[in-house]
Amino acid sequence: MHELSLVKSLLSQVRSIVVDNKSESAEEVVVEIGPLSGVEVELVRSAFNQLSSELNQSGTTLTIHEVPLVVRCLDCGCESEVRGFVFRCQHCSSGRVQVIRGDEFRLVSVTLTESPVNA
Ligand SMILES: [Zn+2]
Repeated sequence: MHELSLVKSLLSQVRSIVVDNKSESAEEVVVEIGPLSGVEVELVRSAFNQLSSELNQSGTTLTIHEVPLVVRCLDCGCESEVRGFVFRCQHCSSGRVQVIRGDEFRLVSVTLTESPVNA
């Protein structure tokens, strides 16, 4: 499963952020998933639940932001959101468009749990 390996590398990324910041764990992890990423949101959720409990990181909440698919028109320069996978400029109807957002699967932020102050 594609999502499982993505989430695995996501969690190791999170782990190193936690370690680098001398924290104990991450409270929340925020990722962005675009419609062209080829990643299923529900599969990411279940992979995250499975892996985070295996890695004793089950206290971490996963928040997924689904980003819209946005194209830029090569004719008029306008940016428009693609709906229903119709790749066309919504301003001039040109079909010469370039995807500028929507193919990402990326880590946006990590909220660390406050580590207890060591005297
Ligand atoms: Zn246009």
